[in-house]
Amino acid sequence: MTSDAAALLRDVFGFDDFRPGQGEIVETVTGGDNVLAIMPTGGGKSLCFQLPALLRDGVTVVISPLIALMRDQVRALQEAGVEAGALTSGNTPEETDAVWAGLETGRLKLLYMAPERLASGAALNMLRRIGVSLIAVDEAHCVSQWGHDFRPDYLRIGELRRALNVPLAAFTATADAETRDEIVEKLFDGIAPQTFLRGFDRPNIHLAFASKDGPRKQILDFADARRGRSGIVYCGTRNKTEALAQALRDDGHSACHYHGGMEAEDRRIVETRFAREDGLIVVATVAFGMGIDKPDIRWVAHADLPKSIEAYYQEIGRAGRDGAPAETLTLFGPDDIRLRRSQIDEGLAPPERRAADHARLNSLLGLAEALVCRRQVLLGYFGESSEPCGKCDLCDAPAEVFDGTTAVRKALSAILRTEEWFGSGHLIDILVGNETDRIKERRHDQLSTFGCGTEYDKRQWQAVFRQMMGHDLVRPDPERHGALRMTETALPILRGEAAISLRRDTIRKASRRPAVKALVSEEDAPLLSALRAKRRALAEAARVPAYVIFNDRTLIEMAERRPASLDDLARIGGVGAKKLERYGAMFLEVITGAVEALHPTRRKLAGQVAGSVFDQLLEVQADLARGTDGTDKPLSCSASQLAKVAKLRPDSLDALSRVLGDRRAERFGPAFLDVLREAG
Ligand code: ADP
Ligand code: ZN
Repeated sequence: MTSDAAALLRDVFGFDDFRPGQGEIVETVTGGDNVLAIMPTGGGKSLCFQLPALLRDGVTVVISPLIALMRDQVRALQEAGVEAGALTSGNTPEETDAVWAGLETGRLKLLYMAPERLASGAALNMLRRIGVSLIAVDEAHCVSQWGHDFRPDYLRIGELRRALNVPLAAFTATADAETRDEIVEKLFDGIAPQTFLRGFDRPNIHLAFASKDGPRKQILDFADARRGRSGIVYCGTRNKTEALAQALRDDGHSACHYHGGMEAEDRRIVETRFAREDGLIVVATVAFGMGIDKPDIRWVAHADLPKSIEAYYQEIGRAGRDGAPAETLTLFGPDDIRLRRSQIDEGLAPPERRAADHARLNSLLGLAEALVCRRQVLLGYFGESSEPCGKCDLCDAPAEVFDGTTAVRKALSAILRTEEWFGSGHLIDILVGNETDRIKERRHDQLSTFGCGTEYDKRQWQAVFRQMMGHDLVRPDPERHGALRMTETALPILRGEAAISLRRDTIRKASRRPAVKALVSEEDAPLLSALRAKRRALAEAARVPAYVIFNDRTLIEMAERRPASLDDLARIGGVGAKKLERYGAMFLEVITGAVEALHPTRRKLAGQVAGSVFDQLLEVQADLARGTDGTDKPLSCSASQLAKVAKLRPDSLDALSRVLGDRRAERFGPAFLDVLREAG
């Protein structure tokens, strides 16, 4: 990385290194090429346009779909000392004035805008005037009219790029090829930009799936084991969000629901509460998503199966953006599969799109029924290979597998002999030889398959059918009220040409409660909660979300490494220069129990080489306060003179006297020069 980029990364953002993929993207965007970067939620996309914005001349316009998200990013940038502003309908007149003042004086580096603004000709004229040198588009998949995040105003961005004739960098977490093609078509006129697909692994997120077995209790148990930590529960329906939120409240949690049917104002209240409060649970439909920029979400649970592997990935990816440990649990059952299939079949998308959607659902089901490390399966889908991760339920407790070929063939035979007109309930009655009225009425007790599957009970057969759906051997047919029909994939098994392994542990009842992982060791826990309390107090006073002060990961590192000085503190990830200056002493006080007595001028140099040079100069000066033989008149330099020397590093007595004046240069000069030479 260039030294400028490295310095800004360190001083403004407080990070030592780039995350996977960030370095190349920053370099390419800064270089002025068009870029499409596909990075997971939480992968650190914002840095990939914020850093180039600081490295390039002129203003970077950031188009982002959500006002709340823009305001958070602007606030976080301002906290870090960056000139950034947003023009949104949510601005106060003062905020808008400040943005204009920043633009007119040429100070503003990042201008956030909602896509709706692009509709007015005035906005375009304004953008032409202010010297835009880069357009960054966040959530670029909003141009895709097949996605649920479609924003018609995003289609104007292509025009904007042509009109301003500046490079464009587009960012999204949506990985599928169709969406990618649409982005290239609509934002880049079909000319492929430099494309980056990186860093899909989110190693701090623990992955787990469980088949539904008293799902409400499964979710309540999961939440109970994580009391006091912020989490999201995704549900398939609006009604369920309300019911589950109530159940969580009855259980003593602080929880609220969120869905697309609520008034905009009510949704905004939930978004704000979630951002600000520690430990709130939001029970939501997928409508709760794009605007959620909270880095310290500690867990995500799915009370119902998501609609595709991309949706799953994006939803769990909202957890643990700060890099600290986060956990997930995804529940699924045959009804989910049926629901998702019928949603695709009944949707308005063209046939190819529907086929692709079925395939994406299949990939998710494959993940749900995985027999080996889930992360390997998940990353494999995104084209990345990896070792068993050690951070998923299947690495924690390997699946027990059995040869399911015979069971599957019996089930297929029951389906075919009843001419693909029945659902799993009736089919299981046939297999276990249950003489129900329906069986007798249809004379299914006469079939050769009747009672041929008594080695399993009803619930075990349910697991077999669910896994058959998961492997896409059978699909419910919406035109036959969900009756199961065999797919081509099943033919080799039916003909005895292929075998299939099934999981046994999902057949057996016991679903162990997933282990809870503490964020820090027992001895560091009290300090971590003290640091969180400090953060909460500061956040409440400033009326900003807690993570704008410091995120969880930063506090965890503080609790574990226990920095003893501001210099040590500056080395903690996430502690940039501005934050160190503003909050460093307060957090250090919590850690050391005492304020470090430091001159404010010195404090500004904390974490820099100049800081330790300053300390040495101070020492040397003390020795020479009364001259070499201790008899002269007392003399000293001011803190700001010393800071200047430490930073400018003059290399001669002449240069020194320009900073200190002749008298001081004469007394301290030779010793100071020694210190500076020593420091290299
Ligand atoms: P997204 O890709 O979802 O937009 P963000 O840009 O919000 O992700 O970044 C997610 C989190 O990761 C933020 O809390 C951010 O501070 C942190 N982050 C980004 N880059 C780095 C880095 N190089 N080192 C450490 N943390 C980082
Ligand atoms: Zn694993």
